[in-house]
Amino acid sequence: MGKIIVAIDGYSSCGKSTIAKALAKYAGYTYVDTGAMYRAIGLYTLRKGLQVTGDGLRAEEVIALLPQVQVGFVQVDGAQHVTLNGEDVESQIRTLEAGNRASQISQIKEVRAFLVAQQQKMGEAKGIVMDGRDIGTVVFPKAELKLFLTATPEVRAQRRYDELVEKGEKPDFAEVLADVNDRDYRDTHRAESPLRQAEDAIVVDNSNMTPDEQMQVIYDYFDRFK
Ligand code: C5P
Repeated sequence: MGKIIVAIDGYSSCGKSTIAKALAKYAGYTYVDTGAMYRAIGLYTLRKGLQVTGDGLRAEEVIALLPQVQVGFVQVDGAQHVTLNGEDVESQIRTLEAGNRASQISQIKEVRAFLVAQQQKMGEAKGIVMDGRDIGTVVFPKAELKLFLTATPEVRAQRRYDELVEKGEKPDFAEVLADVNDRDYRDTHRAESPLRQAEDAIVVDNSNMTPDEQMQVIYDYFDRFK
């Protein structure tokens, strides 16, 4: 069989990007982290000083910035880094603040349309593993393989907590868990492309799987298309 599109969706911090990266390597495919693209735009709005007001973040202020923003990817020592107007912002986008801002700006229809168009272009030649929230439902509704990842909020909060500690931050577990729950709520309740499982997606709950077990399950699904 020829190259396919693999769409990976799921809640935040359930290991989507680790899985997507490993699968892309296994398959010899390109990996695209769409969350990083939303985070890069989020970072831009933070740098421009956009403030959350009583009615949230003003959509029109964010939309006005879009023509100034170019999001891309570069390879650095074999790892994919996201770029914002040519600047490598990989480390700046991986903070709680940038994640929260990404979640806010991702609710704006025009922001989604802006990024979805770029993502669809990246998949034109297939041979791509893309992860996000709306890949199997909106970006590539015809993807050959759709995976929907999930794990309990506590397991995901622990993973995020460990990641932040590793980066030298001093997170508070209760805060991280509250953040995971808030983000789940926003991702599943927003009006524009809410996170939901595509009807033809395969659900993988990795709460009780080791990384190796989970990858074996996923490689087996992929191998069906070989
Ligand atoms: O996956 P990650 O946590 O990096 O994504 C950051 C935020 O971007 C998420 O909370 C989600 O709201 C948003 N996002 C999205 N659609 C995608 C990928 C990410 O709305 N395809």
